[in-house]
Formats: sequence, structure tokens, C-alpha cells
Amino acid sequence: MVWFGAVMAVVVLVGSMASYAFHARAHYEAIDRALLNAAAATAADPAASAHLGHLTARQGVAMTLRVYDAGGQLVQRLPDDAAPAVDPRVVLARPAGPAYGFFPGLAPSIVDVPQGITGAFATLHDGHQRWRVFVHPVERGGDATGAGPGYVVALAPLGGLDASMADFRVLLTGLGALGLVVAVAGSWAVAGSALRPVARLTEAARAIAASRDLSRRVQAAGRDELAMLAATFNEMLESIETAYRLQQRFVSDASHELRAPLTAILGNLDLLRRRPDLPPEEQAQALEEARREAERLSRLVADLLALARADAGVPLVRKAVDVDAVVLDAFQEARRLAKGQQLVLDPLEPVRIQGDADRIKQLLLILLDNAIKYTPAGGRIVLGLQDAGGDAVLTVADTGVGIPAADLPHVFERFYRADPARSRDPGGTGLGLPIARWIVEQHGGSIAIDSAPGQGTTVTVRLPGTGAGAVQGAGAATAAAS
Ligand code: ADP
Repeated sequence: MVWFGAVMAVVVLVGSMASYAFHARAHYEAIDRALLNAAAATAADPAASAHLGHLTARQGVAMTLRVYDAGGQLVQRLPDDAAPAVDPRVVLARPAGPAYGFFPGLAPSIVDVPQGITGAFATLHDGHQRWRVFVHPVERGGDATGAGPGYVVALAPLGGLDASMADFRVLLTGLGALGLVVAVAGSWAVAGSALRPVARLTEAARAIAASRDLSRRVQAAGRDELAMLAATFNEMLESIETAYRLQQRFVSDASHELRAPLTAILGNLDLLRRRPDLPPEEQAQALEEARREAERLSRLVADLLALARADAGVPLVRKAVDVDAVVLDAFQEARRLAKGQQLVLDPLEPVRIQGDADRIKQLLLILLDNAIKYTPAGGRIVLGLQDAGGDAVLTVADTGVGIPAADLPHVFERFYRADPARSRDPGGTGLGLPIARWIVEQHGGSIAIDSAPGQGTTVTVRLPGTGAGAVQGAGAATAAAS
């Protein structure tokens, strides 16, 4: 704004000065030219003195004409001559410059003196107003008889023009100052309104930082770049707020989940301490329950640790992995956990990918563990591995209780359990699938769940291979076990 104001001031100043100088020159020189022409015409006409009045009227400027003899004596003048006394010899000896004093250099005189015309200008003051005088010496006398040398003098009053130029100066100064004030005020307003959103943004950011209230938003009106910045800022706040809320929920869910088994363990231990006389089978039951809850607690802590590592972005160790070997390993482990379900391995194709064998096994155990947990005894669980153009496609299909359609979109959320009634199922933490998804994502793969309540669930995992030329074994191998 200061820059703009300074530039405007220079433009207004230079513009006003130039327009005043040219305007002044044009008017004062019109008078000079009229005086010069009138004097020249009088000198050229031997009978001029007879019609001095007629001549002055022709110039269109209020003026008067006089004739002096060689001795400087006034010979003739018009009856209405009110101009001050002039000595033509003094004027010729000390000719004056232009009548306009304001920056004459800016608009130098351009009065074109006709050939053969000599003479000098002077500017006089009669105490009332200024007069412009032109003295033209002539060889022949200026009187009616034409005898002897002398001078023709033309005089014009400058009072009217001086007054109008003074008004013009006031007008230019006033308009210039007003224009400057309006321009500076305008630029202040424009700069202010342009920068106000930035100030608001800064203010909001500061307030959010100070209050830690991530639910606040900044105003984003309009369609300009600043509005886009505000909108982006709001989007950023939104994603931070979401992450923050998820984190808060995770911590509160985790504490809640940890408290339940601890309460059960403490309750059972208290019971054993208070009632030493409990029948042995009830004692054994209390101990068994405490042990089961402790086991659940340790699983929960292990899961939480895995997720914390995932959140911290601990990278996987990527090596060449024979997925079929890992699948076989997990399958054998799962068979030991099965409670009356039939476990089948079909198909088992050899696939080698780049990945982390331990994590892939953990993933398979999570899926198999779920299948076992949610499939009643007598049900069937089929684990499969297929080579799909170098990618490893793992499937775990069961004939268990299935997942209600309303719960399906949520099963990957932390601590989510589809049916509250089943949440007391042995060992469910609600952290299995989130960990499974993290492992899959770390391998750049995808995981999908298909489920029909009452009929069964199929989880399909696709882990990308190294690309072309995945190591192929001796064809597809199929194994089944029960
Ligand atoms: P949990 O430890 O409770 O199994 P998960 O994250 O592994 O936690 O699974 C979330 C929920 O998804 C489970 O509580 C269960 O309701 C449902 N679910 C997962 N796998 C199966 C399955 N094979 N059959 C039926 N329900 C399943």
C-alpha cells in the first residue's frame, strides 16, 4: 500500500505540474502573440494610429496600443487607456522573460516572432494587477504624419488570466490530494480485504494450536486461491481430527479390553483366597478361568504390540518366500487347534514371492483361528494356495456361522466383533483382522471377505509376486487332511 501510495503521489504530482505548465504557457503566449501582432500591424501601416482601436479589437484580447517618439515621449494613445506608464527605452534595454513564472523550463516559450519584427516584452505591476507589454521600435515615426523614428507599444492586462490560473492551481492541488487520498484508501481497503482471509487463517491456526481443539474449522468463502488454501487447511484438520479420534478410541477400547480379563483374573484369585474351603472342582474351575483370561490377556497384549508396531511404520523384512511351505506350516499348526472341524488343504500350488514369511504365517493363523472359532465342530475348513500369474492367492473357506451383512464392512476395524453375543467366544480380541489387513497391505496385496450367515465365510488374500518368471514347481499339488 505504501509503495502504491508513493507511486500514485509521483504520478499525480508530475501530471499536475505538466498539465499546469502547458496550460499556462498556452494562455500567456496567446496574449504575447496578440501584442506582437498588434504592434507589428500598427508599425506597418503609416495611418495605423488613426485606427488603433480597430486593431486592438481584431486581436481578440483586451489590450491597448500606444505610440512613443524617439525620445520616449508618449505621442498617442487610446481614450480608454488605463495601463501604467512605460518607458520603451528601459524595456528594450532590459527585456523580460515569459509572463508565466511556473516552471517555464518545463514548457519553454514558443512565441514565433514574425520576420523583421524586433522588440522586447516586459511584465509590469500597477499595484492592482499585472500588465504584459511589448515594445516595438520603428524607424519611421508612429504619429499620423510619419515623421521621425519612435516606438509602438502594445499593453494587455493579465489580472483576469492570473486569477483564473490561480484558481486552476487550487483546483489541481485539491483534486490531486483528493485523488491521492482516495487511491491510498482504496488500496488499503483492497489489500486489507485480500489479506484478511490470510489473517483469519493464521488466527484460526494459532487458536487451534493453543486450544488443541481439532474440531474447529476456518472460513472458506469464495473461489480464489485463498479460499482453496482455507479449504485445504480444513481438509488437513479433518484428517488430523479423524486420526486423532481413532487414536483416542483405540486407546480407550484397548484399556477397556485389558480391564475385562484383569477383572476376571482378580475375581477368581479373590474367590480362592477368601474361600479356602471351596470344593476342589470349583477351585479348579476358578483357576482354569483365571488361566484362560491370562492367556487372553497375553494374546491381547501381543496383538496390541503388533498393531503399535504397524502404526509406528516398522518395515517388513522382504525376502524370497516359498508361500506353499508357509501354508503347509500354518496348516499343520491349525490342525492342532481344531476342535472337531475338518481341515482340508486344497489346492497347494508352489508360489514364490518377495515377503516376510513370519508375517504371512501370522496372517494365515489369524484367518484359520477365526475359521476354527466361528465354525462349529463337524464343519469344514478349506485352506488353499493358488499361483495366479506369479501372485499368491490364499483362500480360507469355512462352513461356519458366517458374518451378518451389516457387520461385514466393519470387521477390519480394531476391536470390532460382529455379534456381541459371540464376543465371549474363546479368545476373540477384535484385533485379528486389522492385523491381517496390515500384513496384506505391507505386501502390497489385497484381502476380501465373502460371507453368508449360517453357511460360511471365505477369506481371499492376494499377495503380488515378483512379477514375470515366478519360480514354478512341478505342477499343482493337492493335499487333504482331516
Ligand atoms: P476376533 O478376535 O474377534 O476374531 P477379528 O478381527 O479376527 O477379531 O474378527 C472380527 C470379527 O469378524 C469377529 O469378531 C467375527 O465376528 C467376525 N469374523 C471373522 N472371521 C470370521 C469367520 N471366519 N466366520 C465368522 N465370523 C468371522
